[in-house]
Amino acid sequence: MDDVAGCIACDLTSGRVELPGGLIHRTTHWRVEHCVGPLGVGTLIVKPARHVIHVADLTDSEADDLGPLLRRTSSIVTQLAPSSQVYVCLWSHGPAHIHFVVQPVSEELMSRVGAHGPALQSAMFDSEPGPDPVAVADFADAARDKFEHA
Ligand SMILES: [Zn+2]
Repeated sequence: MDDVAGCIACDLTSGRVELPGGLIHRTTHWRVEHCVGPLGVGTLIVKPARHVIHVADLTDSEADDLGPLLRRTSSIVTQLAPSSQVYVCLWSHGPAHIHFVVQPVSEELMSRVGAHGPALQSAMFDSEPGPDPVAVADFADAARDKFEHA
Protein backbone atom coordinates (compact mmCIF):
# COMPACT_ATOMS: atom_id res chain seq x y z
CA MET A 1 0.00 0.00 0.00
CA ASP A 2 1.65 3.19 -1.13
CA ASP A 3 -1.26 5.58 -0.62
CA VAL A 4 -3.96 5.22 2.02
CA ALA A 5 -6.93 7.58 2.09
CA GLY A 6 -7.60 8.73 5.63
CA CYS A 7 -3.90 8.71 6.57
CA ILE A 8 -3.16 12.43 6.97
CA ALA A 9 0.41 11.94 5.74
CA CYS A 10 -0.84 10.23 2.56
CA ASP A 11 -3.72 12.71 2.19
CA LEU A 12 -1.22 15.62 2.23
CA THR A 13 1.09 13.84 -0.23
CA SER A 14 -1.72 13.00 -2.64
CA GLY A 15 -3.33 16.45 -2.47
CA ARG A 16 -6.58 15.19 -0.96
CA VAL A 17 -5.77 17.62 1.84
CA GLU A 18 -4.11 20.94 0.98
CA LEU A 19 -0.51 21.19 2.16
CA PRO A 20 0.28 24.67 3.55
CA GLY A 21 3.49 25.93 1.99
CA GLY A 22 3.55 23.12 -0.56
CA LEU A 23 6.18 20.42 -0.98
CA ILE A 24 9.53 21.75 0.25
CA HIS A 25 11.83 18.96 -0.88
CA ARG A 26 11.77 15.37 -1.99
CA THR A 27 14.26 12.59 -2.44
CA THR A 28 13.66 9.22 -4.06
CA HIS A 29 11.95 7.94 -0.92
CA TRP A 30 11.23 10.90 1.35
CA ARG A 31 9.32 14.16 1.39
CA VAL A 32 9.91 17.31 3.44
CA GLU A 33 6.90 19.47 4.28
CA HIS A 34 5.97 22.12 6.80
CA CYS A 35 4.14 20.77 9.85
CA VAL A 36 0.37 21.31 9.77
CA GLY A 37 0.00 20.97 13.57
CA PRO A 38 0.48 23.71 16.19
CA LEU A 39 4.24 23.19 16.67
CA GLY A 40 5.22 26.61 15.37
CA VAL A 41 6.46 28.16 12.16
CA GLY A 42 9.67 26.48 11.05
CA THR A 43 8.76 22.98 12.20
CA LEU A 44 9.29 20.63 9.28
CA ILE A 45 8.15 17.08 8.66
CA VAL A 46 10.30 14.38 7.07
CA LYS A 47 8.16 11.45 5.97
CA PRO A 48 8.33 8.52 3.58
CA ALA A 49 6.63 9.02 0.23
CA ARG A 50 4.84 5.71 0.70
CA HIS A 51 2.58 4.60 3.53
CA VAL A 52 4.90 3.14 6.18
CA ILE A 53 3.64 2.78 9.72
CA HIS A 54 6.70 1.30 11.45
CA VAL A 55 10.33 2.39 11.18
CA ALA A 56 11.13 -1.33 11.14
CA ASP A 57 9.27 -1.60 7.82
CA LEU A 58 11.56 0.85 5.98
CA THR A 59 13.50 -0.67 3.10
CA ASP A 60 17.30 -0.61 3.18
CA SER A 61 17.28 2.15 0.58
CA GLU A 62 14.76 4.23 2.54
CA ALA A 63 16.81 3.78 5.72
CA ASP A 64 20.04 4.73 3.92
CA ASP A 65 18.50 8.04 2.82
CA LEU A 66 17.02 8.89 6.20
CA GLY A 67 20.07 9.91 8.24
CA PRO A 68 21.51 12.33 5.69
CA LEU A 69 18.09 13.86 5.04
CA LEU A 70 17.36 14.35 8.75
CA ARG A 71 20.74 15.99 9.18
CA ARG A 72 20.23 18.25 6.16
CA THR A 73 16.71 19.21 7.22
CA SER A 74 17.92 19.96 10.75
CA SER A 75 20.74 22.07 9.34
CA ILE A 76 18.34 24.13 7.24
CA VAL A 77 15.93 24.62 10.15
CA THR A 78 18.89 25.70 12.28
CA GLN A 79 19.88 28.27 9.65
CA LEU A 80 16.37 29.68 9.21
CA ALA A 81 14.81 29.61 12.68
CA PRO A 82 16.29 31.03 15.88
CA SER A 83 16.60 28.19 18.35
CA SER A 84 18.76 26.78 21.11
CA GLN A 85 17.96 23.23 20.01
CA VAL A 86 16.28 21.56 17.06
CA TYR A 87 14.23 18.60 18.20
CA VAL A 88 14.07 15.61 15.87
CA CYS A 89 11.47 13.15 16.99
CA LEU A 90 8.91 10.60 15.92
CA TRP A 91 5.77 10.02 17.92
CA SER A 92 3.44 9.03 15.11
CA HIS A 93 0.82 6.46 15.86
CA GLY A 94 -1.68 5.10 13.38
CA PRO A 95 -3.66 5.86 11.34
CA ALA A 96 -1.06 8.44 10.13
CA HIS A 97 2.15 6.96 8.78
CA ILE A 98 5.54 7.73 10.31
CA HIS A 99 6.73 11.32 10.10
CA PHE A 100 9.77 12.80 11.79
CA VAL A 101 9.22 16.22 13.35
CA VAL A 102 12.13 18.66 13.02
CA GLN A 103 11.27 21.50 15.39
CA PRO A 104 13.26 24.62 16.26
CA VAL A 105 12.95 25.31 19.99
CA SER A 106 14.07 28.67 21.36
CA GLU A 107 14.44 29.92 24.91
CA GLU A 108 11.51 32.25 24.21
CA LEU A 109 9.30 29.33 23.17
CA MET A 110 10.21 27.26 26.24
CA SER A 111 9.52 30.28 28.45
CA ARG A 112 6.17 31.04 26.79
CA VAL A 113 4.95 27.44 26.90
CA GLY A 114 6.56 26.68 30.26
CA ALA A 115 7.99 23.34 29.21
CA HIS A 116 10.60 21.56 27.14
CA GLY A 117 10.89 18.19 25.43
CA PRO A 118 7.73 16.10 24.98
CA ALA A 119 5.89 18.29 27.51
CA LEU A 120 6.56 21.33 25.30
CA GLN A 121 5.00 19.61 22.33
CA SER A 122 2.06 18.41 24.39
CA ALA A 123 1.50 21.92 25.75
CA MET A 124 1.67 23.38 22.24
CA PHE A 125 -0.99 20.96 21.02
CA ASP A 126 -3.14 22.00 24.00
CA SER A 127 -2.71 25.74 23.76
CA GLU A 128 -1.04 27.04 20.62
CA PRO A 129 -2.96 28.07 17.54
CA GLY A 130 -2.06 26.51 14.22
CA PRO A 131 0.78 28.27 12.43
CA ASP A 132 0.01 31.38 10.41
CA PRO A 133 -0.40 30.24 6.78
CA VAL A 134 1.44 33.26 5.35
CA ALA A 135 4.40 32.72 7.67
CA VAL A 136 4.35 29.00 6.82
CA ALA A 137 4.43 29.79 3.09
CA ASP A 138 7.33 32.23 3.60
CA PHE A 139 9.29 29.70 5.65
CA ALA A 140 8.57 26.94 3.10
CA ASP A 141 9.88 29.19 0.31
CA ALA A 142 13.07 29.92 2.24
CA ALA A 143 13.58 26.24 3.11
CA ARG A 144 12.91 25.20 -0.52
CA ASP A 145 15.56 27.67 -1.64
CA LYS A 146 18.07 26.23 0.86
CA PHE A 147 17.39 22.67 -0.30
CA GLU A 148 17.82 23.69 -3.93
CA HIS A 149 20.92 25.83 -3.55
CA ALA A 150 22.80 24.71 -0.46
ZN1 LIG B 1 0.12 7.09 4.85
